[in-house]
Amino acid sequence: MAGVRLTRLPPLPTISEIIRIYRLQAKKKLSQNFLLDMNLNRKLVKKAGKLKDNLVIEVGPGPGGITRAILEKDIHSLVAIEKDRRFLPGLQLLADAADKEMRITQGDIMDFNLETLIPDEFKKPWEANPPNIHIIGNLPFNVSTPLIIKWLQAISEKNGAWKYGRTPLTLTFQKEVADRMVSPILTDHRCRLSVMCQHLCDVSLQFVIPGKAFTPQPKVDVGVVKFTPLIKPLIDLPFKLVEKLIRHIFQYRQKKCKHGAATLFPMNQQDLVTELFDRSGVSPDSRSFMITMEEFNRLCQVYNDICDRHPDIFMYNFRSAENAKAIRQKNHLQVVQFEKQ
Ligand code: SAM
Repeated sequence: MAGVRLTRLPPLPTISEIIRIYRLQAKKKLSQNFLLDMNLNRKLVKKAGKLKDNLVIEVGPGPGGITRAILEKDIHSLVAIEKDRRFLPGLQLLADAADKEMRITQGDIMDFNLETLIPDEFKKPWEANPPNIHIIGNLPFNVSTPLIIKWLQAISEKNGAWKYGRTPLTLTFQKEVADRMVSPILTDHRCRLSVMCQHLCDVSLQFVIPGKAFTPQPKVDVGVVKFTPLIKPLIDLPFKLVEKLIRHIFQYRQKKCKHGAATLFPMNQQDLVTELFDRSGVSPDSRSFMITMEEFNRLCQVYNDICDRHPDIFMYNFRSAENAKAIRQKNHLQVVQFEKQ
């Protein structure tokens, strides 16, 4: 623990000792993989950028490696949110030894409203530099991806931690997911997630942590990704509308994008597909990974306009329409078979 400034109490046990003392075997069910190498923990925290006087929110601190690296910084305070109660005594040990305020909250981050954790004095106008708040976390992969989607929506709606300004995040993801998030146009990894992240945030892959650095070792490497919300989103429209258009456009990645776009509209209103492409000036023959952000913006603007004119269109779900058709066909078949008997 050389260089750790948590020295109010006798030297703290190392993370490995904490794991042993409190019998914190990783739970497979919670996809727990611990980062025990303090150099990597410090590197991750350094990549978050300047944390001086920041209120740092750490999600999934577990045995507390990243937590220690955060506490070594000149921060204002730390709030740690952990789901697994077994880690609370070890985290309390860190809180007791820390020379700054550290609060521990037990709970599931998916159900958590971050707004309740942040005092009003941290608030900055959206257009200003980011506020002195930073969210950091090494969460399980099955939590981090749905969580970032939820938080992108909060960013778009400026609520939760984003009621206080453009709060940045530094989070870990399975390397392949991290690649997709930062992937530019015309690349193999370009997908719905790339556009959803990049239209709202400046997104950058900071570094890759090899899987073998974790205990137990996951099958994949891990990417550390930093997100800073943009002052003006590249597509300034409601999150759900943008998400729906992009999901449909990327639906058949290898086909021309008009095929995905067609599923936005009922069979008897396919003239709206023509309108979508004509008015946006986007080629219906493009593949989704070739479409620029500006083109996505134009597609979303026209789709929004169509939805304003035809209020039922946004709720149209081609899968349930297809299911209904399949059920009708099946029922028809059964009636025919019955009649034949
Ligand atoms: N941050 C520690 C590290 O790097 O060694 C632990 C990482 S481990 C991959 C993920 C941590 O997130 C575990 O401590 C786990 O209990 C916690 N966790 C899992 N799901 C969570 C949730 N929904 N809300 C809050 N914490 C969660």
